[in-house]
Amino acid sequence: MRRINLLSENTANKIAAGEVVERASSVVKELVENSLDAESKNLNIEIEESGNKLIRIIDDGTGIHPEDISKAFMPHGTSKIASLDDIYSIQSYGFRGEALPSIAAVSKVKLKSRPSEFEYGREIFIEGGRVVHEIDLGCNLGTEIEVKDLFFNTPARQKFLKSPQREKSLINDLMLKLALGSYKTSMTLINDGKQVFKTFGEDELDKNLRILYGKEVYENVIPIENHGDILSVYGYIGNESISRGSRNRQSIFVNKRLIKSSLITAAVENAFKSFIMVNKFPFFVIYIDIFPEFIDPNVHPTKNEVKFLEDRVLFKTVFDAVHTALKEALRKNFVIPEEEEEEVQPFRQPVERDYAAEVSQLSLHEYPSVTPVREPSRDSEVGNMSSNYIKESIEAFPSNTQVMHESLNTFNKGEMTLAAEVHTNNIIEKPIVTSESRTYRESLAKFPKIKLIGQCFNSYIIGEYMNELYLIDQHAAHEKVLFEKYRKNIGNLNVVSQILAVPAIIPLTFDEYALFKDNEQVFLNMGFVIEDFGDNDILVREVPLFLGNPQMNKLFHEILDNLRGLGSGLTIDVKYDKIASLACRAAVKANDKLSDIEILGLLDELRYIDEPFTCPHGRPTILKYTMKDIEKSFKRI
Ligand code: ADP
Ligand code: MG
Repeated sequence: MRRINLLSENTANKIAAGEVVERASSVVKELVENSLDAESKNLNIEIEESGNKLIRIIDDGTGIHPEDISKAFMPHGTSKIASLDDIYSIQSYGFRGEALPSIAAVSKVKLKSRPSEFEYGREIFIEGGRVVHEIDLGCNLGTEIEVKDLFFNTPARQKFLKSPQREKSLINDLMLKLALGSYKTSMTLINDGKQVFKTFGEDELDKNLRILYGKEVYENVIPIENHGDILSVYGYIGNESISRGSRNRQSIFVNKRLIKSSLITAAVENAFKSFIMVNKFPFFVIYIDIFPEFIDPNVHPTKNEVKFLEDRVLFKTVFDAVHTALKEALRKNFVIPEEEEEEVQPFRQPVERDYAAEVSQLSLHEYPSVTPVREPSRDSEVGNMSSNYIKESIEAFPSNTQVMHESLNTFNKGEMTLAAEVHTNNIIEKPIVTSESRTYRESLAKFPKIKLIGQCFNSYIIGEYMNELYLIDQHAAHEKVLFEKYRKNIGNLNVVSQILAVPAIIPLTFDEYALFKDNEQVFLNMGFVIEDFGDNDILVREVPLFLGNPQMNKLFHEILDNLRGLGSGLTIDVKYDKIASLACRAAVKANDKLSDIEILGLLDELRYIDEPFTCPHGRPTILKYTMKDIEKSFKRI
């Protein structure tokens, strides 16, 4: 145990001041790091109500000298450095002497501690920065700190906090990273009475990886290692199957400190690039041990960054060391897995739903450059086509493509050139389901009935109407048709689900799990029936009907990544839109060769949806060239 020095005013000022206690998770971080600095072997972390009610950390570290216990709560009270120079040889997490006073100022803190040299320990109780008592008492070796009622005296701060569930998941996620970084210390995290994890102490990085990230990650990583003169690089990287849409599962530890570093991230991603062609972020946990002289940990009060000293040779050494470690491991081990087909069978027969209501939702939007042309109906069946299509799809429903085949067989090809009447300014809300209302329905079309010319690149539909050439992005169009129907059904809480014959088990990290829990009702409203399966795993029992036979694992992670990316404070409609658009994309297969009949069916559906001109992701679905445009291009005019 080292004694505590009070930094001189001057030194203290040199260490940039800053807010250390932003939220409960930053308190947890500071306290755990203090315990780690005290060389604890075992750490017990208990959280209640997202840390707002209680954060309790019990360690078996070196403890605090009884006479120093109140100094620990004074600004700049630290045992870790004595002068600014010490920062550059620092091995500890802390050095600013800011955390305890900052935390004690905004909560009710009780700390008791006993170093091994003493038979009795000492306890201090501080409320909102004011010492209430300090007493000697018998206690275990090490330190126990209890932080209660966080921000009780700064209500303004509470406004900035995320939802309790989200705060809780921030803590869980942070603890995961801290446990990963200090894998030689055994940590037990208990959140609201439930044990989230317990890691092994000692040198059991791989076992801890399994505990913290689960079996799926454990089975899809390979170790990396590269030892040089001034630094060592080691850790694990994951294959494509565990890549994700966010960087959340990328961790870099420099001298055990979790940091963000564009230099190292670039080295890693660069090495990956030549092996994996994905636009996702690979999984990795990378440890770099380097002589402390080469880094500056004092870039930011939260110490989430370190700077490598401004030295091109050093930059290059670090970059190369990481790059080489990865390349070698990738070259030796990497087998890029086949896209895993999940063994999910289609479902039982779904229940009937109210299509009339669905159709009645159609509203009219102007299609800007179409001249309305009235032409009498020749086929009274056509008016009914859309609803027939859906009904038949449901009966037949083996997969999306097949749906199209089956349902479109009823369609009369002779209708191809029928012109449309387009109303431009009124919204019509009457249901249109009978064949008599065919003309009426036609009046709701957003663009005219296009004469089909063909399909190119298995992706684009070519058609003409009057003196205009149309190019339609088939996949975008299909996505949008599904999207609009799905969105309406969600709005009416009328989504039809199918039971998966084999439910999909999806392993989640606890951060993902918390995000899911935050949005459980949203998923339910969207037709996903999901149960807890223990250990942060979930079981998807039912999915929206139109999804067919989805790769649920992939889709679900994509959805969670997107929800996370959107940040907090989202309206439910934004969430619905986001999830629905991802689901619809998953439902639409790329590069299908469509038959004419299928194309016509798709076009017909597209004509009647609310917003046919953009896909759910905002890209255009339809391009139009006038004859004039084309003639100009050929320099005829
Ligand atoms: P810093 O960690 O930057 O030194 P803190 O305010 O976090 O500043 O802590 C102040 C001091 O209190 C530390 O330097 C250390 O001496 C002592 N301390 C805090 N927590 C513990 C602990 N769990 N075990 C032993 N000493 C501790
Ligand atoms: Mg500290």
